[in-house]
Amino acid sequence: MPGMLYLVPTPIGNLSDISIRCKETLENADFIAAEDTRVTLKLLNHLGIKKSLVSYYEHNKAFKGSVIVERILAGETCALVSDAGSPAISDPGEDLVKECAQAGITVCAIPGPCAAITALSISGQSTGRFCFEGFLSTAKKSRREHLEALKTEQRTMIFYEAPHKLLATLESMAEAFGGDRPISLCRELTKLHEEVIRTTLQGAIDLYTQQPPKGEFVLIVAGAEPVVEEAATPEDAAKRVAQLMESGFSRKDAIKQTAQELNLPKNVVYDAALNI
Ligand code: SAM
Repeated sequence: MPGMLYLVPTPIGNLSDISIRCKETLENADFIAAEDTRVTLKLLNHLGIKKSLVSYYEHNKAFKGSVIVERILAGETCALVSDAGSPAISDPGEDLVKECAQAGITVCAIPGPCAAITALSISGQSTGRFCFEGFLSTAKKSRREHLEALKTEQRTMIFYEAPHKLLATLESMAEAFGGDRPISLCRELTKLHEEVIRTTLQGAIDLYTQQPPKGEFVLIVAGAEPVVEEAATPEDAAKRVAQLMESGFSRKDAIKQTAQELNLPKNVVYDAALNI
């Protein structure tokens, strides 16, 4: 019988946020795969757990992934943890889940801390529809392209960002979305200096130009306002009917086509076209 892969979320700043189920899963696993074994060792010591640890991180994941998969297929149960938060969300766990899924291994995610959702919930922005955009590229060109593609996104957007790249990111966002777009900067969540700054992109740029940003950030950016298309006027309808008739449409077909295109009642288009 193959074992299983458990995704175990860990606190993003407050050690008390570890759940009973997470603790039990770590205790019962045959081994723990950790992004940084030193970080995880601290957590295990806090919980009084002694367990075999293997490292699984960005630069060894290609090789380590298959070793872990083989151990699970041979019957062992693995608990995967990242440095903080939910494994597989903007960290290498994503690839291990894919490999396990491909190998037919059951993957079980335990719900728990996730910086993105914690930030969204206290942002004060709309939470009904949102999209997670993770980290933007450090390369200016790809960052711009990514943001350009989000220009008309109406859902609330969630980004992760490191403090030393924050100002450049805010500037690129202001270029793409305009400086008056609302943003909530959620900093040091669940930690002593937790803070939520609700401002605009330009307001955030002004603030962090004066004081260098410190700590971990999640950026919650409001979506674009829906574009309200201006209703077509009878004059627009008359022009369009004339154009269509010039190109060979009969009057009747031109009126029908214009009414459809401009979303106007047929009788309005008919009246507008009387003088043509
Ligand atoms: N998998 C993790 C999760 O779901 O929470 C996220 C991992 S990602 C490598 C790390 C990023 O999460 C940080 O750069 C920061 O943007 C965000 N983050 C993590 N902990 C945070 C905290 N306490 N406060 C604010 N942001 C945090």
